[in-house]
Amino acid sequence: VIGSSSWDQFLILDRFPRPGVGAVVTACAEAGGGTAANVAVALARLGVRPLLVTTVGDDAWGQRLVSELSREQLELHLVPPRAQSSTDYCTILVSPEPERTILWSPGARLRLGDPLPLERVFQCRVVVIDVEDDDLRQFLLDLPAHVAPRTRIVGPLTHLATLPCERARRLAIQHDVLIGNEDEACAVTGCTSVDAALEALRRWMPLGATRLVAISRGRDGCILATMRETVRVPAFEVRAIDPTGAGDAFAAGIVYGLLRRLPLSELGRLANAMGALATRALGARAALPTRDELEAFLSGVSHVHR
Ligand code: ADP
Repeated sequence: VIGSSSWDQFLILDRFPRPGVGAVVTACAEAGGGTAANVAVALARLGVRPLLVTTVGDDAWGQRLVSELSREQLELHLVPPRAQSSTDYCTILVSPEPERTILWSPGARLRLGDPLPLERVFQCRVVVIDVEDDDLRQFLLDLPAHVAPRTRIVGPLTHLATLPCERARRLAIQHDVLIGNEDEACAVTGCTSVDAALEALRRWMPLGATRLVAISRGRDGCILATMRETVRVPAFEVRAIDPTGAGDAFAAGIVYGLLRRLPLSELGRLANAMGALATRALGARAALPTRDELEAFLSGVSHVHR
């Protein structure tokens, strides 16, 4: 997994703030986050020992992130930041619905030219790319053909969704698997509905490497599509406390299910379970399940308590 890690501060509000109606902070918490780090931690808890290639700033948040990540069963490769820089810092306002507002102060990030452990990366069976720098993404996408032809690339749509559509399309079709939420799928394709976005993504498939598209839909579950098949899988009913990291847990579920070669509908069910479980505690990682907990949840025999 290559990409971001951040330090997140959560402010729990008594209501969703609206113009003219303020809200009161009732609790406050802090935790490590960032899409790539969250996906790696989710996979580590499931017993896959992932390699996480990330960077943190030269500050206290960076140190806390590293000490949190070192307690997980993952291989951590820290790329030193180029200049003295801060760690990505997010302030996340969570209201009871739960609704979220994210205030983001960007810090150190991976860029083209950074010393990445490429040989080690391309020994992995799956490479998840969550880098913001387009040039670095392109560089990584260009590598597998001659370095590691069997490596499958999974691209979360988060950063592609911020690019102009044509550029996003050209990059997207070079990933084997595309994973994103409804908004990201619409932004990448320039469509206004998830069904139109799905159709557009399916039309892209024959043009490139993409074999699977996974669109998460919050409480509505997910849609998975290959060239031949589309499945819509309903979400699990859970008492959601904080949706932060649900999409990252969902992405980890897709990767984990692909490693286990699950059929499409089981893949969607597993990814939905990961997303649902992640919402049951504050922060992106607090409620991520172990493999046993996930299996117990899927077979409906027990609940996960932490
Ligand atoms: P993102 O965090 O990227 O916006 P989603 O909100 O779509 O991603 O959530 C990812 C997945 O997590 C969903 O497809 C769903 O399976 C699960 N999920 C998210 N929120 C809930 C919820 N309130 N109840 C049950 N499952 C949820």
